[in-house]
Amino acid sequence: MRVSLVVLFSFFSLNTFAQTDHSHRLERALRFPDIPGFTTMKCDLHMHTVFSDGSVWPDIRVAEALWDGLDAISLTEHLEYQPHKDDIPHPDRNRSYELALKEAKDHKLLIIRGSEITRKMPPGHNNAIFITDANKMLIKDSIEVFREAKRQGAFTFWNHPMWTAQRRDGVSTLTDVHQLLIKEKLLDGIEVVNDLNYSDEALKIALDNNLTIMGTSDIHKLIDHQFRVPQGGHRPITLVFAKERTIDAIKEGLQNRRTVVFFNNLLIGREEWLVPIIEASLKIKSIKYPERSDVATVEIENGSSSEFILLNKNSFTLHEHADIVTIKAGETMTIGVKTLRRLTNLELKFEVLSAINAPQRHPTITLKGTVTQ
Ligand code: ZN
Repeated sequence: MRVSLVVLFSFFSLNTFAQTDHSHRLERALRFPDIPGFTTMKCDLHMHTVFSDGSVWPDIRVAEALWDGLDAISLTEHLEYQPHKDDIPHPDRNRSYELALKEAKDHKLLIIRGSEITRKMPPGHNNAIFITDANKMLIKDSIEVFREAKRQGAFTFWNHPMWTAQRRDGVSTLTDVHQLLIKEKLLDGIEVVNDLNYSDEALKIALDNNLTIMGTSDIHKLIDHQFRVPQGGHRPITLVFAKERTIDAIKEGLQNRRTVVFFNNLLIGREEWLVPIIEASLKIKSIKYPERSDVATVEIENGSSSEFILLNKNSFTLHEHADIVTIKAGETMTIGVKTLRRLTNLELKFEVLSAINAPQRHPTITLKGTVTQ
């Protein structure tokens, strides 16, 4: 019995191994390569537990983040909205952070102390992360609370400006109060993605006002249910390009606006960070010409967890595709390129339709390779 089980298990493991080649996110952990000069940190910087209006204990947020292969999270409990406080009385607003920190101690996951400043519009809901004491943030005045956050060294961002409960038409719009906060250097970023929503208008606000582009899960229940992870979905995250794997380096990256948001298989960010992350994710593995043909066989590998939809911008046409090529997460795809004659080097230009660098605009990337045969 024992022997046959071993045989059975080795059969399955061999079989699994054989299938990994065209793994469309067989692995759950999110993968993004580093870019030249920077480490790519996968961060979810807005979430809740029972210590505000979430449904889980902080250790579950840590477990979910580890499953997703994240590098950093922040439990941003509402300071002012405490619906569970009769059942779970806690005078200390830092408690959720402390429990998560303890849970993550034997792992690489970084825990960033944060809080959600929860107000009517304006200024609506805003997060302050990298704070040192959440209790000191219990301040009534909506501007003064930002000043306290800044005294603690915080990075602040406007949460869900597209939220219909605070903005009926879902159109993110800068208010006088936000303009004042930006002018006084009290507001650093804006969520272009929150939970299941994306906002073109928020992206425009970020670009026009030099704010950091953010995307977060704002999870209250379970990541797997909300973002349909078993069905192939993923939570929104912010990729922060950091100089090293530390909390201070993440803060420095956020302050200098080095972010790209990953949401629903879309990448959203400033061109200067979007192009490097896509070019690091998509690599030409080989270029070969068959013996009796001048159609190049080009192998392109997608080393990221994002799917890419590419629009052909070359003078060459493609042999198996029209002008659209979709490369799934983790997939290596072979495309035929009609180069008309045998080249020694190839440069392929694609507009990336699944990436957004400004409202209704997509970046163009160049993939380079040398012909090996
Ligand atoms: Zn929230």
